[in-house]
Amino acid sequence: MALTLPAHPDPLTDRIHDSGLLQELAHGLGGAFHYLLPGRFDANLAAFRRALTEAGVEGRVYYAKKANKASVFMDRCAAAGGGADVASLGELRDALGQGVRGEDLVVTGPAKAVELLRVAVRQGALLAVDALDELDRLLTLGDERPVRVLLRRYPPDQPRSRFGLDDAQVQEALERCAAAGDRVRMEGFSFHLSGYDVQPRADLAGELVELCLQARTLGLQADRISIGGGFPVDYVAADAWDTFLAEQEPGHYHGRKSFAAADFYPYHSPVAGADALRAILAARPAGSAASLAERLRQAGVMLLLEPGRALLDRAGSSVFRIQGVKDRTGYGILTVDGTSLSLSEQWFDSEYLPEPVLLPQGDRENGPYEACVGGASCLDSDLLTWRRIRFPARPRVGDLLVYPNTAGYQMDSNESPFHELPLPPKVVIDQDGDRPRWRLDR
Ligand SMILES: *Cc1c(COP(=O)(O)O)cnc(C)c1O
Repeated sequence: MALTLPAHPDPLTDRIHDSGLLQELAHGLGGAFHYLLPGRFDANLAAFRRALTEAGVEGRVYYAKKANKASVFMDRCAAAGGGADVASLGELRDALGQGVRGEDLVVTGPAKAVELLRVAVRQGALLAVDALDELDRLLTLGDERPVRVLLRRYPPDQPRSRFGLDDAQVQEALERCAAAGDRVRMEGFSFHLSGYDVQPRADLAGELVELCLQARTLGLQADRISIGGGFPVDYVAADAWDTFLAEQEPGHYHGRKSFAAADFYPYHSPVAGADALRAILAARPAGSAASLAERLRQAGVMLLLEPGRALLDRAGSSVFRIQGVKDRTGYGILTVDGTSLSLSEQWFDSEYLPEPVLLPQGDRENGPYEACVGGASCLDSDLLTWRRIRFPARPRVGDLLVYPNTAGYQMDSNESPFHELPLPPKVVIDQDGDRPRWRLDR
């Protein structure tokens, strides 16, 4: 018996799916595509800002651009006066081109290219320094303006992290900043943790607040900290997720493939998005009697955050057309007009689990049908879904499959023109009253 993991109900996407627009687009674009809902990005950004205001914390949200390549989200960011977290010259160029101001950029990533550092300094962007040699390179680049830096902290509880400065390096960096005088503006510290837990973020944030106070004794500005991203997204309902984790075994997958439950993204999160920020602000950092929000206020420290996935929650889906349906003993194999490179999770020993929705052409009354979903390539391992999904009817060639909520990392971070298949274009859908209207992302 197949396990089911439908995405949370979404009336807006239901309306789009019922409107016939996607069939029209699949016909017009001649293949797989993604659709984007910028209104959702606006709402998610507003929710994060509300959480800051409610907690009485001065803060800024920087959208982590790597979560999606579309320009439309950068455009929304600029329109809302938001900032962006960029990690390459290409991302920086797109942010500036869409109207995000240089001083509203934070540049992250290890050992950043000199060309990136140079443009970032000229644009007045904030640079998260990952290593001492990077700090030295930066100090040679300042023009008439000082170089704005955060010092990125190596997370002591994640010893396998390759990012950041350890204790001794932080102290050394502070001394070099103090010695550099007007050439540098040391604005504070940053981290980005893997995983999605609240307490480790509050703990490390608390430590960075103390570091700010210490840095000020050296005459440095040190009035802000960035807690990075990692705000979870809640894709599926709790009961379906618990059942899935307890029961999933090789018999549920094509080729009896086995997946370790620990390797799946936590597709259900009871506390997600802006609520996760609320929880972090309300938590008490280790050794502190006050909540993180209170500590920030007492110390006069501003909170920066860099959400990627959480700003894109429900802001896009991926649409494929079924090209073939073939029966195997007990289930079927659907082949679609795209590849698993358009669902990045498939490339991390894992699987994108919120299940695809079948949009049949015309009525269909032929009972449930279990199938996995393969890509249009010659690789045996190219499956968009290894799991045998229980569809309400036997799919036919020409039907559409919509993978829900793929804007955060899934749709384009691993895309490739393998087999000379075209990259799926991105269609932006705006609501005009009741009517969905579309345009291509630039
Ligand atoms: C990837 C990344 C983010 C965004 O992480 P999400 O999990 O998408 O919120 C933020 N900051 C840094 C430094 C990153 O590398």
